[in-house]
Parts: sequence; structure tokens; C-alpha cells
Amino acid sequence: PSIDPAPVKIDFTKYFSKESTGRKRSQLKELKPYSEIPGMISFGVGIPHPSTWPVNGMTLSVPFAGKSVYIPGHESRSPEDMLPLAPYSDPVKGDHLFPDLAGELQYSATYGTPHLLGWIKEHIQRVHAPPYQDWVNLCTAGNTDGVDAVMRAVFDRGDYMLVEEFAYPGLLSPAATLGIKCLGVPLDTEGLVPEALDEILTQWDEKERGGPRPKMLVLVPTCSNPAGVTIPVQRKREIYSVCRKWDVLICEDDPYCFLQIRPDGANSPIVPSFLSVDTDGRVIRVDSFSKIVAPGSRLGWITGHQTLVEKIMNTRESATQCPSGFSIAAIAAILRAWGSHEGFEKKYIPHISDIYAKRCLLMIDLLKKHVPSATIELPEPSGGMFLWVRLKIESHPSFPSEDAEVISKRVFKAMIDEKVLMAPSEFFKAPSISTWTKEEEAKRNFVRISFSLPPPEQMEEGCRRMGRALAKEWKL
Ligand code: PLP
Ligand code: PMP
Repeated sequence: PSIDPAPVKIDFTKYFSKESTGRKRSQLKELKPYSEIPGMISFGVGIPHPSTWPVNGMTLSVPFAGKSVYIPGHESRSPEDMLPLAPYSDPVKGDHLFPDLAGELQYSATYGTPHLLGWIKEHIQRVHAPPYQDWVNLCTAGNTDGVDAVMRAVFDRGDYMLVEEFAYPGLLSPAATLGIKCLGVPLDTEGLVPEALDEILTQWDEKERGGPRPKMLVLVPTCSNPAGVTIPVQRKREIYSVCRKWDVLICEDDPYCFLQIRPDGANSPIVPSFLSVDTDGRVIRVDSFSKIVAPGSRLGWITGHQTLVEKIMNTRESATQCPSGFSIAAIAAILRAWGSHEGFEKKYIPHISDIYAKRCLLMIDLLKKHVPSATIELPEPSGGMFLWVRLKIESHPSFPSEDAEVISKRVFKAMIDEKVLMAPSEFFKAPSISTWTKEEEAKRNFVRISFSLPPPEQMEEGCRRMGRALAKEWKL
């Protein structure tokens, strides 16, 4: 089904946690808009004098194939100049980028600094074009921070949150710490199954579950961690329609958005996001520079309805005031150096995704070459950093006399003995109310193989070792 384009009005107040509802704002923060009135002489806020800062410059080098001298205020770099080199090469002499330190190290609105926010806004408009008006952005210290902020704004202890049946442990463990009860929704090869989501919500019994229906679904829509799936847009529309039916918000944690394999590289668009089908403002999109610049950036952003994002901002302005100005200065300088969005989208991003796509396809080939097909089922490659490889426990010689769980633990141990490490699916299993037969349970055993870092020789040797361990276990 397509989504009814008439927006559904959302009463956001019912979604806020007690903490975010009760958050008191410092009145001094309310002076800020006045200080921005042209001609205002401000004695109102305590702002450090930049001449006191023991740093008056920061030099960054951003590698390019073309000529690479950035001079602030000069015209944008053309996309043709923007081929970064990997591995890093020494900067060309005179290849300096000067961040705008006086602005970027200063106190600023908690939403972020003007140049960075401007870039983010234009990026979101170009890539996702949210089909409603009242969306805004807020800078974060990356997606761990972003999702944490969203959970704190929405959930109280004891509330339920919907997640994928195999979910990122970096979501499950902080949720448990916050007292949020996660509930896994079954997945298939296209990601979260909308009918299963609808069934869980339809059959929700407050007494039996000990709480009201979940207010939000959190998922990883692209090259998911761990299941490696990219949800096709039609499936996204179906999930969206179910969430709309039950008034559930959607948080899309999308750090691998640009690492997806596209049929025709940079010339084909990315799979549309949940944000790009969001007519109501029920999606909170969480983006990060971790996978497109570097994890140590600790910089990302949230996109969502202004009412929700403002609540999150209020919490953060009296807590972390993330992200760090040094990080903003560095990333903003890189963005200025890249110059145009077109160059970022058509040159830089394809360069990065190509590196991971090649590794993904190589890993598949090596697994086919070295691991007996009687022991594993390979997924369709979607890019990102992970392959979610199913162990054919149902054809293991000791199944069903031995439990699938016992066998898969032994398989894991056999691989450790051969000195090859991967993450078993039990690490990712969210609590579930679905019931499975013994045979179905056997088919829910996977390993998450990360292909993002090892050199190709190690990828091949690791697959050889995996093949030996599984052949031994399956007595081939
Ligand atoms: N969310 C998911 C699904 C991830 O896989 C990761 C890490 O890769 C993160 C969040 C953390 O990202 P960040 O470094 O932006 O905090
Ligand atoms: N540490 C942190 C903090 C991460 O965010 C990530 C990326 N998800 C990793 C380590 C490595 O990935 P994973 O935890 O999924 O194995």
C-alpha cells in the first residue's frame, strides 16, 4: 500500500518522558534570541573573549586528487577536484585549511553552529526531502549519543520499545540501563516484517504485558547492524503505515546510509529513507559522521519534528552541550574544503562506499570458496560492514537430538579454536514474544562477519579457518 499523503496530526506531548516533560529551562537561555537582534548591544550573557583562548589556529589537511588549496571566502571546489586518496598521503605544501575558530569554539545555540547546521539542512533537503514543513536539525556527538537522547526524551522506566528481533547491542544495553523493555519484531530478508509489527500492536494486552503499547520503534534501516539488511522503500512504506495506524514514532538510526551498494554506483539514488516518506513528522532520523568521516569525529545530527527536537535540545543544553567545538571546527573545515554538496554526493561518498562494497563482495566470494555450502547460507550483499551468515544448524549431524543453542555455542568455540572470531547471533537477540518451533529456532542461528577492516590476505585466511572449523563440526 502507498501512504495516504494527507498528514496525520500528532500530539507530541503524549510521547514525552516524565524527565523531558518536567525539564526546566534556564531563563538565561531565553536571552539568546534578543542578542541576535541586529544592533543589540549585549551585556546579557557571559561569553568568553576569544583573545583569551590559547589557540589561534588549527590546520587540517584534506587529501584531494586535484589542486587542493582552500582559501576562506573563495569560490567552491568543483566536484572534479574531490577525489580523496586512501591511504592517506602527505599534504601538498601550502595545503592548509583554516577553521573558523572564533565562531566554532564559541558558545552557540545547542542546535549547532550556523555553518554546520546550514550544511546539514541542505544535505537533508537534497537527499531526503522530508515531505512536511516543521523539521529541524540538532547536532549530536554521533549516533550513540543521538539515539540515547531520543530514548531519554520519549521513554520512562518500564516503558516498552520496539526493536528488530536481532538488534544492535549498543541499543539493547543502554535501553536496559534506562529501564526500557525492548521487544523484538521478526525480520525477513527485506528487514522488519510489517505484518508481524501489526500483529504485536493489534494483540497488545496492557495487563498481560504490564504496560501500554510501545510509543516508538527503533531500527537500523540501511546495511543494518547486525543483519546487514537494507529495507526497500516499499517495505518502509508498509512499516510506516502500521506505525501510523498505531500512533507509533519511528527512530531510524542510519550510520551506514551511504555505505549501501547501489546498482549503478553514484548514478543511482540511495534507497529512500523513512524520513523521506514521513508526511506526519513521526520519524526521528539519526545521522553520523562516524562512517563517512571518522568515528573519532564524535559528531552527528538528528532530524525530526521541531516539537520533539526542541525537547531533546532542552535536555542537552543543561547537560552535555554536545558536540565539541574542536570537532565542529574540524568537520566544518572539511565540509568547506569539499565545497559543494554535489561533489560530496557524487565523488566523495561513492569513493567510500566503493571501498566497502568491494570488501563485501570479496568476503562473499571467499566464503563461497572456503566454507562448505552444507554449513552456511549466505545473504544478498547490501554493503555496509557486516554479512549476516546463517549457520545451517538444521543439517548439523547432532540436530535435533542436541539443542540448536548448544550446537551453535560449540560451533563458535570450534572457530575460536581455529583462531577466527565473529559475533554470534545470541549477542543481538532482543526479548521476543514470538514463538518458534524447534526447527524454526534452529534456523535462527547466525554469525555476524565484519569485513570492514582486515587486509584481504587475512580475509582469505579467516574464511579458510572458518571452513575448517565448520567442516569438522558438520563431520564433512
Ligand atoms: N548505531 C548503529 C546501528 C551502529 O552500528 C553504530 C556503530 O557503528 C552506532 C550507532 C554508533 O555510531 P556513532 O559512532 O555515530 O556513535
Ligand atoms: N565501539 C563503538 C562505540 C561503536 O559504535 C562501534 C560501531 N558500531 C563499534 C565499537 C564496533 O562495532 P560493533 O559494536 O557493532 O561490533
